[in-house]
Amino acid sequence: MTVPLDSEYVLEVAGLTRRYGAKAALDDIWLKVPRGAVFGLVGENGAGKTTLIKHLMGLLKPQFGSVRVFGRDPVIDPEGALSRIGYLSEDRSMPLWMSVTELMGYTRAFYPKWDQTFADELRETFALDPKAKVRHLSRGERAKLGLLLALAHRPELLILDEPSSGLDLAVRRHILTAIIQTVAEEGRTVLFSSHLLDEVDRVADYVTMINQGQIVLSSTMDEAKEAHHRITLRFAESQRRMPSLPGALFCEGSGQEWSVVCNGRLEELKKAAESAGAEILAEQIPSLEDIFLAHASNAPRAAKEED
Ligand code: ATP
Repeated sequence: MTVPLDSEYVLEVAGLTRRYGAKAALDDIWLKVPRGAVFGLVGENGAGKTTLIKHLMGLLKPQFGSVRVFGRDPVIDPEGALSRIGYLSEDRSMPLWMSVTELMGYTRAFYPKWDQTFADELRETFALDPKAKVRHLSRGERAKLGLLLALAHRPELLILDEPSSGLDLAVRRHILTAIIQTVAEEGRTVLFSSHLLDEVDRVADYVTMINQGQIVLSSTMDEAKEAHHRITLRFAESQRRMPSLPGALFCEGSGQEWSVVCNGRLEELKKAAESAGAEILAEQIPSLEDIFLAHASNAPRAAKEED
């Protein structure tokens, strides 16, 4: 039975914690993903992205906290939640002995809304040989087949774990981006994880950064950009290291010229830089990569370890 959507949020995660021994892979995660969003999940290796996605898919049961997908618990009610999701797993696991056509037919049987014309179009676009066995496909070809299988039933929610991994630049830049944008334009929702910050910057309209199992930033992309600043400074004398400036989250450079990323304390930082003998050469909107580096290098636990 299909129950109508009862929430503006397709995904709701509240206080989700997952421990492996003493290590918290996820530590008190709170997240809401609105319908129609393109939601980028970023974080360094081991940050907890896949662990979070596995909870969304009901593949892991929360130790603490809760997960709701279309208002349902994906562990208790997998049919209600999962039939509406297209999922590309990080390991691209699929039966190796099937051919591309066989796997498409097999997957189709699970999804009443499977769109065969669209599936065939995607197969052509991805130049996948219908007779090829999965075991003989390259890593990139498996990524394309995985994407096809996730998309062809036109899911309301697309969850892609590192979709770019294994894809070459042209496919990433043109096809994947176009797919994600089309899904969003149709009012459907996309959540994807990625290491490629320029790609997330270009495609996502919400971004959540995870660092060591904790959310260090979660907002719309526009808000993230508005809340941060990048300034370029030139010092009268060459500096071996950047003088400490209030509000500076991240700095890079050498000699006389340095760049600093800050959030919220721009005027204070500029005054302090000028007092330290620096001239302000430029003020820029930071890239997502700047913002990521600022937060990754300010991880709460990393700071504690240094204390
Ligand atoms: P990557 O970008 O490298 O794929 P990720 O952000 O997806 O990383 P996760 O795979 O979610 O990270 O892992 C988060 C942390 O949890 C890592 O430290 C990882 O080693 C640990 N972890 C994940 N699964 C297990 C497991 N089954 N047993 C023990 N530790 C695990």
